[in-house]
Amino acid sequence: MRKFKTESKKLLDLMINSIYTNREIFLRELISNASDAIDKLYLKSLTDASAQVDQENLAITLSFDKDARTLTVSDNGIGMTADELEKNLGTIAHSGSEEFKEANADKQGDAVDIIGRFGVGFYSAFMVAKEVSVVTRAFGSDECLRWTSDGIEGYTIEPVAADDPAYRETCGSDVILTLKDNTDDASYDEYLSEYTLKDLVTRYSNYVRYPVKMMVTKSRQKEKPADAGDDYKPEWEDYQELDTLNSMTPIWKKHASDVKPEEYNEFYKSTFHDWEDPARTFTLHAEGALEYDALLFIPGKAPFDLYSRDYEKGLELYSSNVLIMEKCADLLPDYYNFVRGVVDSADVTLNISRETLQQNRQLQAMERRIEKKITSELESMRDTDREAYEKFFGNFGRGLKYGIYSSYGMKKDELAGLLLFWSAKNEKYVTLQEYAEAMPEGQKAVYYAAGDDRDRLAKMPVVKSVLAKGYDVLLCTEDVDEFCFQAMRDFTAKGLPKVYADDAAREAAEKAQADGAEAETEDRSLELKNVSSGDLDLASDEEKKAADEAAKANEGLFGAMKDALGDAVAKVTVSAHLTSADDAPSSVSAEGPVSLEMEQVLSAGPDAAQAPKATRVLEINAAHPVFAKLQAAEEAGDKDKLALYTSLLYDQALLTEGLPVADPVAFAQNVCKLM
Ligand code: ADP
Repeated sequence: MRKFKTESKKLLDLMINSIYTNREIFLRELISNASDAIDKLYLKSLTDASAQVDQENLAITLSFDKDARTLTVSDNGIGMTADELEKNLGTIAHSGSEEFKEANADKQGDAVDIIGRFGVGFYSAFMVAKEVSVVTRAFGSDECLRWTSDGIEGYTIEPVAADDPAYRETCGSDVILTLKDNTDDASYDEYLSEYTLKDLVTRYSNYVRYPVKMMVTKSRQKEKPADAGDDYKPEWEDYQELDTLNSMTPIWKKHASDVKPEEYNEFYKSTFHDWEDPARTFTLHAEGALEYDALLFIPGKAPFDLYSRDYEKGLELYSSNVLIMEKCADLLPDYYNFVRGVVDSADVTLNISRETLQQNRQLQAMERRIEKKITSELESMRDTDREAYEKFFGNFGRGLKYGIYSSYGMKKDELAGLLLFWSAKNEKYVTLQEYAEAMPEGQKAVYYAAGDDRDRLAKMPVVKSVLAKGYDVLLCTEDVDEFCFQAMRDFTAKGLPKVYADDAAREAAEKAQADGAEAETEDRSLELKNVSSGDLDLASDEEKKAADEAAKANEGLFGAMKDALGDAVAKVTVSAHLTSADDAPSSVSAEGPVSLEMEQVLSAGPDAAQAPKATRVLEINAAHPVFAKLQAAEEAGDKDKLALYTSLLYDQALLTEGLPVADPVAFAQNVCKLM
């Protein structure tokens, strides 16, 4: 007996003993696996001439034995080798055991969630079975194998002898469940009933594209005997017949109005192995030179590996109901990689190898159209169901921002309108357009602050001072935010109230409006500005003048302070936005393209050594009492004191902005010296 790994055991235990009421979905999982196994064999036959597949007979078969209390799901798909049995069924959650450990650390909580996240579909069989065995023969192998497990400790793998009744002559798998004993609370006998199985197949697996067959009992009139008299009464008899239980009609070929939402949901869950309903379902029907149907889904939750390298995007590609590719990556742009779905086109040539497919111009045309459709669907979600949209954005928003960044801003027209950011003023998520519409007259830029903690950003002195001017600040807490903004450079807001060149023009317009003309609007390009950038340019002319004068008057002081800090800063100067004794005594800003936050992100990345650094400027609040202390130290020629004060002001400015100080020990010693 081979033992399950510890985390597998924990997960199994969690799942089997969870009070998950919806046990019956185990059948959907096994049928999906069977269907995938047939797909794999079928796809092999497209590229491998030796794989001769009898397409007519590809099928999934259900059978049960009431006395033995077994239920069997058979397929004539690709089967599994000993290695595959070990890898696929031996290590539960093989793809995500590390993540599982983490998720499992917090609490037993939502077992179902865990099941869904790690794709342990096969193991759901243990919710109803006390033992599961898989008799399988891989394509091209002359060996038949049996994997058996009670789902508790481990499993065994052994060869099946040719004289064993279970022996398979051809490739495929039989998954045999020995059902659990009935308890007071649960009867497992129902899975040994024709009626229940039929019902489960039509409910959960109706659109599986291979026939799901089962022997069913039917009743028919006996033939009338030749010598029957006038008083002959018709007699009935039972007989058995192999029936196909599922409709198999591709759901995407049906008119959307003829399909119930639950049917789409079941199709989505069984086809894409998700446990949650999709957040959005939509269809696309294209006519013209290239005809195709698409059925697309936005998942309700991000798969755990979405941001990992293993994640493969793509849509299922069919040609006239026949699967040609399971994950056709060319049909989706990277930033919509989370979309699942099916595309079916009679115009895409069958039997075409993958290489030629990739260069297929038809695919490119489809991709563009699909991309547009997804964008408009997301826009409509944003405008009609904000709550759902925010949830969507929480799941997938990062990818959209990344899409703008990685296209160097080329995709901003497509994507910028879909982004949400946290508004410091309204304490909720807003779009850039909403931000622009709420701007007071005279505001010229979109202001944002970037860092890893929203509360701390809200407390930054410069954020407060921008807010005090009546301007909103977007608080950005994702790594990618600032890179996305830098790639965008600006945002064009639509339909803002027109700004007139001079009073005369404004008055003329007001007059026209009084006479019934509509208020004029304009599209305006707004710069995206980090509040920590040196050239914030928010100070009034007077404030700027005052700052300039103070800087000039204190040239000697600032020179000495810069010397004290050495290369840490490019210069020390008077702040134009910290102007009252109540404001912070100092702040750090960055000049040039690299902001302080970007520096943080880049220096945590793989190329830390080469990462560009921000050009730092220490800004001093000339109205703050500490400024007088600095001046006094300078006048007294007390170099040590000046260096101490400067270093403290610099470090505390870094701390309030959530940035690390270069030498925490020195900082602590400096504070002590002061005391
Ligand atoms: P998932 O289907 O989400 O990958 P499962 O736990 O259901 O996870 O199955 C694990 C793997 O076992 C599958 O990916 C597949 O490779 C293999 N497998 C399961 N059932 C079959 C089957 N009937 N025929 C061939 N391979 C199968």
